[in-house]
Amino acid sequence: MARDKIGERRTRLEKDKKRDEWSRKILTSDEIDAEKELLDNTPPVEPIKGDDTPGRNDPCPCGSGRKYKKCCALK
Ligand SMILES: [Zn+2]
Repeated sequence: MARDKIGERRTRLEKDKKRDEWSRKILTSDEIDAEKELLDNTPPVEPIKGDDTPGRNDPCPCGSGRKYKKCCALK
């Protein structure tokens, strides 16, 4: 049994190695989809404003420790 587990682990390592090689060469459509999904799930960067208005995702300046959009921005 133990021998089987070692063999299984070795196979997995070789698969990971191959996947790593592929990712360096060319992305498969599945991998491109995964990349797109990752980008979709990345929140957009708030535009930097020239005034003192805090970003909605920044910690609230009142010191509550909450995000501005969940704190004083609601008032
Ligand atoms: Zn606040």
